Amino acid sequence: MSLKNDNMFNPEMETLSGDELYELHQNKFLSQFEYLYKNSKLYQEKFEKAGIHLEDITSLEDIVKLPFTEKYELRDAQKFNPPVGNHRACSEEQLSRVYSSSGTTGVPTYIGLTRDDIHNVQAEAIARVCWAGGIRPDSKVVNIPTAPFIADTFREGIEKTGATNIPTGFNVDRVIGAFQYQGADSLHATVSFWSYLLGEVKKLGLNPKELGIRNIIGGAEGGAKLLRPMIEESFGATVIEGMGMGEISCIIFGECLENRGHGMHYLTQGIIHVEMIDPKTLESIPIEEGATGELVYTALHSQAMPLMRYRSRDNVRILSTDKCICGRTGFRIEVLGRTDDMLTILGVNVYPLAIRDVVTKMKPRVSGAIEIQLEKPRPVVEPPLKIKVELGERPGDKEELKKQIETIIREKLIFRAKVELVEELPQYQYKTQLIKKLF
Ligand SMILES: [Zn+2]
Repeated sequence: MSLKNDNMFNPEMETLSGDELYELHQNKFLSQFEYLYKNSKLYQEKFEKAGIHLEDITSLEDIVKLPFTEKYELRDAQKFNPPVGNHRACSEEQLSRVYSSSGTTGVPTYIGLTRDDIHNVQAEAIARVCWAGGIRPDSKVVNIPTAPFIADTFREGIEKTGATNIPTGFNVDRVIGAFQYQGADSLHATVSFWSYLLGEVKKLGLNPKELGIRNIIGGAEGGAKLLRPMIEESFGATVIEGMGMGEISCIIFGECLENRGHGMHYLTQGIIHVEMIDPKTLESIPIEEGATGELVYTALHSQAMPLMRYRSRDNVRILSTDKCICGRTGFRIEVLGRTDDMLTILGVNVYPLAIRDVVTKMKPRVSGAIEIQLEKPRPVVEPPLKIKVELGERPGDKEELKKQIETIIREKLIFRAKVELVEELPQYQYKTQLIKKLF
């Protein structure tokens, strides 16, 4: 690691120019395509169905000829050929780990990894985001598991940076103890856990600043933006968030310390190729400043279960494609919401996160927590949209507050809402749920 680029884990990859990136990805994509063509039963079937032969794909531009891969296809494929499924491309001997990660629908997805996948895909990407968030070889990181898969791969990534990993399990007393007695100075946990931890620390009558937390790395739930100032101030720490998809790489995007709050960098140069599409027409959208669309991922050197054109269902806006003040060249994004969470109100697409952002502007009259009450399956919703809003520390006149929130939603998001103010909404230790289905 050269001293000049001390703020990057892999400066060679993280500062590639557009042309260099294209050339690297083209070579890797073509070998990955050939590997899948020869080894993956699922992709052999998909390519045959799409009428695609090995000789049809000769450049990275040909990627648009390939069919998309959807999550349900992996779930169908894993009914055969255990322990991974028909999408396994490596030999059984090469397979090093198989995780089962339960999704929101309750049906688990199996994630198979070879040693190389663990070290050169998952851990490499995690090491880049940890480094971007301030983790260094002398850091001591408390790693809170959200699932065995995330806990294990983050441990590998943290250790790859040279830092010390302190596993605590999901036990808040042990987490606090690691900071008090073991010299821990960094934290990897979900956004929801940050505020849960803060609450527990305060309950014990401790000063959060005295815990010595310097750097916090979190998974993107869209809440980091809102919570960051309060969490940074309370703990006296820096906070960055990252985002990815376990099936392809836990981390694909992450903020840098220098420009945090201004979007997550694309960090997986040479590991995962990223495209953007219109989620409705499925047409490709160029990655340019201001463009919005759904992210689509293609593995570039995975072995166990490489995926091609995997639909993430994550909708984002490209904030910048310029070189950042941190020196990284990876474009920066902000998350708009999930394609699956998108609501269509009178023909306009609205994401729950956008509603929460607007309501949060009324702090401290509101707490910032909301719950959208859906009476019918989405996406089409007839106004008024029913929203529960949690009261804050100083709500003031409640009738006037309710009206003001309804007005601000109508002005900013152009739809009619019916707001119900409530004293308390459910608290989540993991992922916050913004939508409640009443059907
Ligand atoms: Zn940056």
